[in-house]
Amino acid sequence: MKVVFFSLFFCVFISKLHATEGEQLKTLLAGLENAQTRLTYLQENKDIYLDQDLSIKAEYWLALGLALEENSRLEKAFGVYNRAIKALESTIDSHRELYINALIQRSYIIYLQTYDTEKYCPDRALAYNSLDETISVDLQVRANVQYAFCFQNDKANFSTGLSLLDQALKLAKQHKLSANTHAMIYNASGLIYSRNQLYAKAYEYLLNAYRQWSLVNDYQDMFNMLHSLTHNAIYMREFDKAQQHVDEMFMLAEEQKTFQDFLFFAHYNSGLLALAKGDIKQSANAFSKALIEQENTQERFFVKSAYEVNISNYFRLDEIDKAHRLFTQLKTKFPEHQIKSNLVNAFAAYQQGDYSAAIAKMYQQIDHEKNERRLFIKHAVQSTALLNSQNISELDKKLLEKTIEIQHLNIEKAQSDKHTIYLFLVFALILFLGISAFSFYLYKTRQYFKHHARVDYLTGVFNRRFLFEKGEHALKDMRLKKYDVSILLFDIDNFKSINDTKGHYAGDLAIKLVVEKCQANLPKNSFIGRLGGDEFLVVLKHANQEQACEIAEQIRADINEAYFAEIAPIELTVSIGVVSCQEQKNLDEAIAEADNLLYQAKEEGRNRVVSR
Ligand code: GH3
Ligand code: MG
Repeated sequence: MKVVFFSLFFCVFISKLHATEGEQLKTLLAGLENAQTRLTYLQENKDIYLDQDLSIKAEYWLALGLALEENSRLEKAFGVYNRAIKALESTIDSHRELYINALIQRSYIIYLQTYDTEKYCPDRALAYNSLDETISVDLQVRANVQYAFCFQNDKANFSTGLSLLDQALKLAKQHKLSANTHAMIYNASGLIYSRNQLYAKAYEYLLNAYRQWSLVNDYQDMFNMLHSLTHNAIYMREFDKAQQHVDEMFMLAEEQKTFQDFLFFAHYNSGLLALAKGDIKQSANAFSKALIEQENTQERFFVKSAYEVNISNYFRLDEIDKAHRLFTQLKTKFPEHQIKSNLVNAFAAYQQGDYSAAIAKMYQQIDHEKNERRLFIKHAVQSTALLNSQNISELDKKLLEKTIEIQHLNIEKAQSDKHTIYLFLVFALILFLGISAFSFYLYKTRQYFKHHARVDYLTGVFNRRFLFEKGEHALKDMRLKKYDVSILLFDIDNFKSINDTKGHYAGDLAIKLVVEKCQANLPKNSFIGRLGGDEFLVVLKHANQEQACEIAEQIRADINEAYFAEIAPIELTVSIGVVSCQEQKNLDEAIAEADNLLYQAKEEGRNRVVSR
């Protein structure tokens, strides 16, 4: 029944595979039940993939390598990755992502086989240096993190590892990668700091990793972080914090019963903390409880370590029987195990009655601890100095960036100032032009009103008011400078009849014609003005009575001869009174006299000049 089911299962996948080619190989494998099924599937369907082009072949090799890894066949996996890398090497540009992936996978196998950075890091360096912008962000982050581990034990360059992780973290934040990815980066940073004795920094990062993993309820990793946090807190002598993490471990162990070894590690850490605090009794108690749980964990290293610590604990407590019992158990359970602990070896010698050997081992332990402490101080100082110089150069870089930013801002400000000045100038120009235009308008308006205040609207000669002003002025000037001034007062004859017979408009034209003829005969420095109606006054400077009479006569004759086209035939004449002003006191008196003479001219039959 089961066989039929699996055959059907594979048929479905094979037909699916043809439709999707190698692209969805990963999805297909994820649907398979376990590591063994995945490997079987890949081995049985090898020909389908290896017949295709290089991309699909490489995808297949990567999947096969992973499946072999999952089935603990590291040697085979290594061979498969080798083949993939060799095939991809010559065409990196078109298969860059697959190539980098294969390098990272191969380096992981070498890591598991050797734990030697010199052996597994060349692949990681190559992967990191092959990154470009075409590579997916996830793979970029992975390549960074993997390469960072290469610097964990390198005291001189561990800050390179940290900056690789910084880069990875920046990418993860920028692209909002999963909490898991963030946690992985924080954890790696924590590890590097811790390896370089920078426990406070390590603690900070591990706490971040713990928080990220608690966001996604990844209990296994949360628990691992609590384990690391406890260690760091102990190194920092922050026993309260360490206690808090131990309590959290117990809580998780209680809540998450599916993780069977949580309780072992909770007791184990509790024992370490008590030991650090110098409470040997409590430490022995905790490690005993851990050892009760030993069957629930696969981590043999920690089980052996728990035995060793507790043997020395009981030895110190002078509970030799208990120490002996544990020693026997350790030897029976792990006969191959080489005991490195000086205290346990001292106990072994003590048991055999070889006290001097026991004492020698004790001294060895004292020397070892002294050495450890000296190395610790040396490394911590070196790491701190290195980190500080890295921080300083980072600060310098930031300072430089800020300076450049400020320069940019200054340039922008200068440009904006320039713009403001330009706008101001444009505004000032517009204002200036506006004011000028307005002033010009005012000036023109003033001129207009001034002109209209002085001239007669119909004829354009001086009006009565300005005529008197100008006339008075002329007389004053005459008296001052002693020259002759004469006036002519004239009036159109029978003008009413023009208005009555030809209309008012014709009357206006007649008035204008008379003024025109008069002006044509006026000498320089003379002027004419309208007193009102059909009556006009002429002021003649530098003209005595005789000269004035001549001019008057000329005017009269011209007007008389004028042919008035619009209203012809019509006779147009004027009567003129001429007065020489020498004896006159003022203009009014001269005009009054001229008016009398004009009246006389009218009386005498009009169209004539009368003078005194
Ligand atoms: P005389 O020869 O005695 O001066 O007789 P006249 O008809 O000219 O009488 P007078 O000078 O007294 O009459 C002036 C007339 O001029 C009166 C008025 O109707 C007319 N008049 C005054 N101003 C204007 C004007 O601007 N246009 C016209 N068409 N007629 C005017
Ligand atoms: Mg008249």
